[in-house]
Amino acid sequence: MSAAATPGRVLLPGATLGVLGGGQLGRMFVHAAQRMGYFTAVLDPDEHSPAGRVSHHHLRADYLDDVALARLGDLAEAITTEFENVPADALARLGERHPVAPGAAAVAIAQDRAEEKAHFTRCGVPCAPNAVIDNEEDLAGVDDALLPGILKTARLGYDGKGQVRVATRDELRAAWEALKRAPCVLEKLLPLAFECSVVVARGRDGAMVHLPVQRNLHRAGILAVTEVHEGCVAPAQAKRVIDATRAIAKGLDYVGVLCVEFFGLEDGSLVVNEMAPRPHNSGHWSIEGADVSQFELQVRTLAGLPLTPPRQHSPAIMLNLLGDLWWRDGQERTPDWAGVLALPGAHLHLYGKADARPGRKMGHLTLTGPDVAAVRTTALEAARRLGIGAF
Ligand code: ATP
Ligand code: MG
Repeated sequence: MSAAATPGRVLLPGATLGVLGGGQLGRMFVHAAQRMGYFTAVLDPDEHSPAGRVSHHHLRADYLDDVALARLGDLAEAITTEFENVPADALARLGERHPVAPGAAAVAIAQDRAEEKAHFTRCGVPCAPNAVIDNEEDLAGVDDALLPGILKTARLGYDGKGQVRVATRDELRAAWEALKRAPCVLEKLLPLAFECSVVVARGRDGAMVHLPVQRNLHRAGILAVTEVHEGCVAPAQAKRVIDATRAIAKGLDYVGVLCVEFFGLEDGSLVVNEMAPRPHNSGHWSIEGADVSQFELQVRTLAGLPLTPPRQHSPAIMLNLLGDLWWRDGQERTPDWAGVLALPGAHLHLYGKADARPGRKMGHLTLTGPDVAAVRTTALEAARRLGIGAF
């Protein structure tokens, strides 16, 4: 192993950091890394990928392409990932030569809902009552108490894709057939009072810092709005969320940025939903609302730099900009950017995606301001100008 590959080495600005995946999360990682003076290399097969377009190097190849992985290893001195469905094997291979954060083992657990839930349980964090459905026997053995429920594919789901709500055993069977009998998890449908998430960053030495707990509103299974300000989640609940997330990260011996999503139930209890082994859509507000963003935390953990506790300096509300906003009455249009940017504290992010399909994450808008009331007022006005439903 060369000196460059020593996992404990701190990589200072001027080094090249690699990322598997070229989506918007990779793009914002690249922006953070470049701002700090790093060079970047992105591996993504799509020529027009949001991160590939802004990176110093863009390798256009499949994630398991031997030549491309070797080239990434030549270019970059440490490698991270921006989505959990990158083959864990690619991370494992890169990990033979360079620091890789998060590691392949943690990503492999996050890729599979059944394994993820088993990990939560091992860490003493309760999740929704559920059953793993791999075969006919599992299906037949499902407890009626899990209905009505949500059948979720164990792998490759995102933004509510690969999920079907089922009320009866017949619907459950039909849904499993429709999901092509893929390994699934059936979760009991819970009465949600609210949803929240938290981003933690854990260094190579085990030191951890976190962003404040974020309150999330989903619409049709997709994150629509994130609010982060005092009182958006009760302090006692927020503490439980942070403690549980720290336990989950520690249990994985995690290095990198991890986001864990929770459900707050009507009876006051909390259950964990899922985790993302990377920055998360609900943490985007931190770019303008905190003095260290989730993407800078990703750079710092990857490079082995110190982690200082991020401080939120402004209340923030983030609105997701889905492809739907580009359409009205069947006609394509440009959302009213000028109108939105006339609002104080409006920060527009567009990911450079050409094709505005309904449900596709095209960008986000973060509103910051001096106090919660001001931010809510401008966020609601921005939503109105864009055609996003009030919240
Ligand atoms: P992501 O884009 O966050 O990866 P995903 O496709 O993995 O999404 P989940 O987080 O499992 O999906 O679910 C999406 C949303 O569906 C949740 O945020 C919540 O609003 C709702 N939901 C999921 N599971 C349940 C449940 N057991 N009870 C009630 N609502 C649920
Ligand atoms: Mg989710």
